[in-house]
Amino acid sequence: MGNHMDVVIRGGTVVTADGRAECDVGIANGRISQLGGEMTTRSTLDARGAYVVPSAVDPHVHLCAPEVLASETPEFVDDFYTGSLAAIGGGVGTIGQMSFPFADDESLRAAVSRDASAAGQEAAVDYFLHPGITDAGAETLEQISALASEGYSSLKLPMLAFDWGARNLVEAVQRAADAGMLTMVHCEDEALIRFCTARLEAQGRDGVENYPLSRPDVTERAAVERAIAICELTGAQLDIVHLSSASALAVTRSATLRGLPVYVETRPMYLYLTDEVHSQPDGGRFVGMPPLKKQADVDALWAGLADGSIQTIGSDHAPWTLEQKTAPGLTVSTVPRGVPELETFLPMLFTFGVLTGRISLERMVAVTATNAARLFGLYPKKGSISVGADADLVVLDPGKTRVIDGRTMHSKAGYSPYDGWEARGWPRFVLSRGDLVLSDDTVTASAGRGLEVPRGARLAPSPSPAYPVPAT
Ligand SMILES: [Zn+2]
Repeated sequence: MGNHMDVVIRGGTVVTADGRAECDVGIANGRISQLGGEMTTRSTLDARGAYVVPSAVDPHVHLCAPEVLASETPEFVDDFYTGSLAAIGGGVGTIGQMSFPFADDESLRAAVSRDASAAGQEAAVDYFLHPGITDAGAETLEQISALASEGYSSLKLPMLAFDWGARNLVEAVQRAADAGMLTMVHCEDEALIRFCTARLEAQGRDGVENYPLSRPDVTERAAVERAIAICELTGAQLDIVHLSSASALAVTRSATLRGLPVYVETRPMYLYLTDEVHSQPDGGRFVGMPPLKKQADVDALWAGLADGSIQTIGSDHAPWTLEQKTAPGLTVSTVPRGVPELETFLPMLFTFGVLTGRISLERMVAVTATNAARLFGLYPKKGSISVGADADLVVLDPGKTRVIDGRTMHSKAGYSPYDGWEARGWPRFVLSRGDLVLSDDTVTASAGRGLEVPRGARLAPSPSPAYPVPAT
C-alpha cells in the first residue's frame, strides 16, 4: 500500500543539479515526503513525458510596495502580487527582492520594513529581501550591521553611485564582510557613462537607438575590476549581478582563479538578444542596465553557464509598460531601464539553452535554483528535491509550446522582450509548498500566501567539473 500522501507526482523524470531519475514524488504537509516507492493518495498529478524540477529561485527582482506605486515617480509597475503571478507562470517559486530606500529621507531599515510588509500582504510566492544601499553614511553603515544580525545575509550595492565618496563605499562593503553578508554589486562605472553620454549629446546622437554607446563594455569592466579590488581589500564575498560581457567575465574568472570569493549572476536577456535590437523603431523595449552586447558576448555567457564560471541567473525583473519604454523623445539618459523577465524564465532557458545543447538540464536546475538557494542560505529548503525540502516544484512539459505574448501575461508591463518568439517547456503544474498554484495554463494563488524564507548558512554553489568553486 505505501505511505499516504497529500499529493503524488507520478511518472515524471526528476531532475536535480546532480542528475536525473524516473521517480514519483510524494508530498505531505507542504514538503517532499517520499521519493519513489509505494505511495497512496487521493490527488495524483500526471507528470508522464515531463521533467520534475525544483521551482526556480530568482535572487533578483524589483517589485513595488503600494506606497512606491502610488508615488509621483514610481519605480517599475509590478506589485508583489502581479510579480508573484508572473513568477509562477515562468516556473519561479522564490523571489529575492531588492529593497532600496525610495524617498530621499527613507532609511535602509525603513526600506526593508516597507518591502517586508508589502510582500507579507501581497506576495503569492515565497521571498527574501536584500537590503540595498544608495548611500554609505554613518546611519546606513550602522543599519547594515544591525540587519545582518537579524538574518539579512546579503547586501545590494550599485557601483553606479558616482558621488558617494569611494571611501564610504569600501567601508560599506567592509561592514557587510565583517557581518558575513554576501555583497551583490551592480557593476557599471558612472563617471565613464557620464562621459560617453555627454559626448553623444554633444554630437546630437543621444537617441535611444544609441543606448549601447552610452554604456560600452569598458564601463562594466572597469566597475567589475574595482569591485574585485574592494573584495581583495575587505575579504568580502561578492556576487557580480547581471554580468553582460565577455570581457567582464574574463575579469571575474581570473579573480576566482586567484582564489577570491567572487560569484557571477547573468540575466536572461543577455543570453537571447544582442544590441542590434536597439536599432528597431521600438528598441526602447529592450533597454536595461548594462545594455545588450554582441554575439561573442552571448556565446561567452552561455559557455560560462556551462562551465561554472557563471553560477546563477537572476531575472532582474524590472518592468515598465511599453508606452513608458517607447515614448517619443526619449534619450539614452531618460529611457526607463529594466524589462519584464519573470514569466518567461524557465521556458526560454529550456528552449534556447537545453534544447540547443548549450547547457544540460542538470545545469539548468543548478543555475536557476540550486546555486542561488545555496548562496543565499535557503538550501536545502529551496532549490532541491530531497525529503524534507519545501514542495516547490515545476512539472516542466517539454512538449508544451507557446508563442510569447506579453499582453496575455501577468506582469503589468503588458509586453515581453520576446513577444512573437516560440518557446517550449512551459509548466504543466507548479506547486508552492505543496499547493497547486498553476495547472491547466492558469495561475491560481492568493495574495499573501507567500512567506519570507528564513536564511540559514550560506553554501558554495554546486561544483561544476570544469571550474573551481569559489570558497564561501
Ligand atoms: Zn536589478
